Amino acid sequence: MKKIAILGSTGSIGTQTLDVVRANGDLEVVGISAGSNITLLEQQIREFHPKFAAVGDEAKAAELRDRVKDLPVKIGSGMDGMIELATMLESEILVTAIVGMIGIRPTVAAMKAGKDIALANKETLVTAGHIIMPLAEECGVQILPVDSEHSAIFQCLHGENRKEIEKLLITASGGPFRGKTRAELENVTVEQALRHPNWSMGHKITIDSATLVNKGLEVMEAKWLFGVDLDHIQVVVQPKSIIHSMVEFKDGAVMAQLGTPDMKLPIQYALYYPERRFLAGDRLDFAKLAQITFEAPDFENFHGLSLAYKAGRRGGTLPTVFNAANERAVQKFLDREIGYLTITDMIEAAMEHHTVKENPTVEEILAAEQETYDFIESRW
Ligand code: NDP
Repeated sequence: MKKIAILGSTGSIGTQTLDVVRANGDLEVVGISAGSNITLLEQQIREFHPKFAAVGDEAKAAELRDRVKDLPVKIGSGMDGMIELATMLESEILVTAIVGMIGIRPTVAAMKAGKDIALANKETLVTAGHIIMPLAEECGVQILPVDSEHSAIFQCLHGENRKEIEKLLITASGGPFRGKTRAELENVTVEQALRHPNWSMGHKITIDSATLVNKGLEVMEAKWLFGVDLDHIQVVVQPKSIIHSMVEFKDGAVMAQLGTPDMKLPIQYALYYPERRFLAGDRLDFAKLAQITFEAPDFENFHGLSLAYKAGRRGGTLPTVFNAANERAVQKFLDREIGYLTITDMIEAAMEHHTVKENPTVEEILAAEQETYDFIESRW
């Protein structure tokens, strides 16, 4: 039995990780966590019998403790609880399925405790990649990508020499607003932005897919995961999300990973790497598919992608500012406080206002995050 802990088990990636556990029978879930959804967390505790569960919200943790007092499970809370989960003696691998920079500290703690990381929480690499990647090497642990694009690249690189990469080609569906101009985007609604053409995901990442900010975060994530600079990472729009990403090598050969859009594949690949297991689900039918089309991304109308390249190239604390400003802006958009186009306006204003710090420590990253939140609140 392989023992796993899941940070953020009640979310989109977390619940699909538990689907993979259900389907296989040789994975043991030793720890799980939620921010505040203790109803689902309780159901998960009763089904998977973990030894430990953490809840972000302290009051909810107390409530859950009372609800599961008939079971031999310890309930932790807040950041201390998440770190306890990440470093559990029993676990071999931590799935980071939490959303936001709150994932940095537990991820660092897990690596220091010798755990491999199945990484979905891209914010950790975007903002602290310069800390995470060397630390993984120092601790002798693996960072296994869960994001479908990065898993695709990871699969294409299996058995290859990374020094022979010419460029990474990250595919993008283009989201629900592909082909629209800024004027047409002016009055789009939350409901329209949440209607992703191919993938069913959490609200935050679905909005990020509509703005192409998610693609920008993925470009920065890829830079750290595969050690490739941004001039050698290209975004290619491929509307049906059949090709999950590609690698071009020095001899011009291009390797691609294709499949139906299903996050369970990259999750399962990360959990069993390098083994491939059976996964139930639809298979590609090329005769029915008939064609796969490609486009260049629209950097002008989807300004978030240009800002991400700018932040990734500059480095230091700028990717943190990009990410934190986007996080706040998306929340305000979901709360219907601001219009859709204001999301990228906020990111740009925060980036212009910020004085970049080179090689930031975790504390400095979190300070830049707070500074960005304060800036956004003072302006909007
Ligand atoms: P969700 O919003 O669906 O789930 C987030 C999880 O984190 C939930 O368990 C949530 O708990 C928990 N959480 C949120 N805030 C806090 C907090 N302050 N303290 C403790 N726990 C918290 O997100 P997704 O599953 O969509 O995404 C997770 C990560 O994976 C993100 O970084 C995303 O970018 C990345 N990713 C997601 C993909 C997808 O298909 N969804 C694809 C590729 C990457 P609660 O339920 O109680 O709120």
